[in-house]
Amino acid sequence: MNPYLNDDLMALAEQARRFATDRVAPGFQERDRTRVLDRGLMKEMGAMGFIAPELPEAHGGLGLGSLAAGVIHEEIARADLSISYINLLASLNGQILSQHGAPEIALPWLKRLTAGEALLAIALTEPHGGSDAAALRLRIERDGAHYIVNGEKTSISAADQADAAVVFGRTGAVEAGAHGVTALLIPMDLPGVTRNRFDCHGQRAIGRGLLFFENVRVPVSHRLGDENKGFVQVMQGFDFSRALIGLQVLSVARAALEETWAYVAQRQAFGKPLSAFQGVSHPLADFDTQVEAARLLCLQALWLKDKGLPHSAEAAMCKWWAPKLAYDVVHQCLLSFGHGGYDRGVMEQRLRDVLGFQIGDGTAQIMKTIIARARAGREAVPA
Ligand SMILES: Cc1cc2nc3c(=O)[nH]c(=O)nc-3n(C[C@H](O)[C@H](O)[C@H](O)COP(=O)(O)OP(=O)(O)OC[C@H]3O[C@@H](n4cnc5c(N)ncnc54)[C@H](O)[C@@H]3O)c2cc1C
Repeated sequence: MNPYLNDDLMALAEQARRFATDRVAPGFQERDRTRVLDRGLMKEMGAMGFIAPELPEAHGGLGLGSLAAGVIHEEIARADLSISYINLLASLNGQILSQHGAPEIALPWLKRLTAGEALLAIALTEPHGGSDAAALRLRIERDGAHYIVNGEKTSISAADQADAAVVFGRTGAVEAGAHGVTALLIPMDLPGVTRNRFDCHGQRAIGRGLLFFENVRVPVSHRLGDENKGFVQVMQGFDFSRALIGLQVLSVARAALEETWAYVAQRQAFGKPLSAFQGVSHPLADFDTQVEAARLLCLQALWLKDKGLPHSAEAAMCKWWAPKLAYDVVHQCLLSFGHGGYDRGVMEQRLRDVLGFQIGDGTAQIMKTIIARARAGREAVPA
């Protein structure tokens, strides 16, 4: 129990946990091997109302708050972080389409997204760099009722599995930086789109890859937000996904801790349970404390969002702290299992899975810059 989660949210979490335990957990390791996202599972999640429940009902959601999305992310991630990427991409892209899309284009996609019938990627990073996202180079040029898109995006989650992508490109001058960027919704079956898949360390069921655009004609109706305002308007959604990522990885850490506490309480060495040795139990107690605190910070960020209050700094705190903490926690848990932890299995897969979020959606350094700007002022922290 905690002050953020009322009885309704606890009941929703319980329902999501039952589904995740019965339907998601059993294929966790198999999907890591096959690297295929289970579309059937995605539809089941949609039918249960687990995908972007925070969207208005008219946009396919349930009109619930961000905290509802948070508890569902936790429960699905606990069973398989890769599968909870479906929820993450839907919440991030759903908010963008809902707030910035033309209704006649956005609505059908939102309905498919929340039903688990469509997967949307988000494409910002380019081969020359991701941290300095405003320096992107992919060209978007107007040609009557269309935009012509040319360029390359890299390291895009679900690149080869997505049905469409929210793509950020340059419509203005390079010198205009963030103010010359436009966002488009680009269906992946348009002529001129090609893509591939990387061999990832973790999160292998969702995967990452390249997106190439060669003279891709996108109707102007597919623009998200205003021309040249894509970065300034559309990027606001990242505060939401940063808090959700925090909850996802902390949930993986919590599952690892629970299993490890049970293991060290029964495994014997030198005539005692491992937990009797402070060298074993105190690191776990330290991490247990920090996971509890970091989770409350993530819930606080979502609570602030639901109240319409500023939460960029809090979201950035969630995004740098939780993935690093989760990695350190799972690492410690793995060591507590001795040689068994090093075998291919759930613990080493968790370690591989959570590592990606120390980079994806922005690194710790970039998050700390966002926090510094919020505290010291943008002028005092120019880059
Ligand atoms: C699992 C995963 C999923 C991803 N999914 C997506 C996705 O769906 N869509 C998408 O667009 N991108 C995605 N990415 C890409 C990710 O957003 C970028 O990798 C990230 O923003 C960093 O960019 P970069 O890799 O080009 O590193 P660089 O920008 O080249 O940075 C390299 C290093 O230098 C540091 N650095 C850079 N600038 C500064 C600075 N000013 N001060 C201090 N340190 C700095 C960085 O923190 C980093 O450690 C994903 C990446 C991963 C690993």
